[in-house]
Amino acid sequence: MITCDGAGASHDLIARLDKLAARPGHQLIYSVGWELGARERAAISAVPAGAWQIAVDARGEIRERRADQACADRGCGHRRCWIEEAHVAELTSLLREGPRGDQLDGWPAKMRVFARRERPHPGAQLTLFEAEDGWRYSLWVTNRPATTRGWLGQNAYIDAAHRVQARVEDAIRTGKDTGLGHFPSFDFQVNAAWLTAAMIAAILLAWLKLLALDGDLARAEPKTLRYRVLHAAARLVRGGRRRRLKIQASWPWADAITAAWQRIDALPQAP
Ligand SMILES: [Zn+2]
Repeated sequence: MITCDGAGASHDLIARLDKLAARPGHQLIYSVGWELGARERAAISAVPAGAWQIAVDARGEIRERRADQACADRGCGHRRCWIEEAHVAELTSLLREGPRGDQLDGWPAKMRVFARRERPHPGAQLTLFEAEDGWRYSLWVTNRPATTRGWLGQNAYIDAAHRVQARVEDAIRTGKDTGLGHFPSFDFQVNAAWLTAAMIAAILLAWLKLLALDGDLARAEPKTLRYRVLHAAARLVRGGRRRRLKIQASWPWADAITAAWQRIDALPQAP
């Protein structure tokens, strides 16, 4: 799955992804941000009220918040006291089959357009359209087939899958702590090598968190991992045809590091 943020969709990018997705024996799903222009605004205005479906959060739960005029009991069950925070709708057929003909002419036939609407946070920057309408919109396109069965094909899932992009933005932000923040040289080649090394570091940290760590450490950012794990006074020693990890027992994360080491050691060896 390839995700891209903002209004990332250009003809070149989508054409490239479409071509990659068409390779026999491969499956590639993309989810790419799409600009909110005049034709999209017209389509959004034409979505029937009942066609907006409730969006879910990463745990699959409905995102709700208290209405402005809610009662004093914050745990109440009154319908009027809660607002569903976000909704999703598909705009594809409104754009393709509207009164003004196919407005997605030139884009791949498999490309579908989705919109999410949310109640804006107080103080959010809104476009005129959003200010009048009362919702804030984000749009994206995907090639996930309309025939997809089960929960993978539901609008709520398609929306949640697009929002994993937020994790990518986290990785870019924390990548700045692992060398992406500043380049050391005026020389392009040197910086290219630096970038490669920084990417290797980011990838190793990601795999370390995924395969070997749990709890707080599995969610920790590079700065924390550097202090707790990478800078720990430990040594890898060889002897008797075995490798042993020697680590200072008083280090507060010694157990977590030992467990991580055992998990890595237990991974099947690459052929
Ligand atoms: Zn209430």
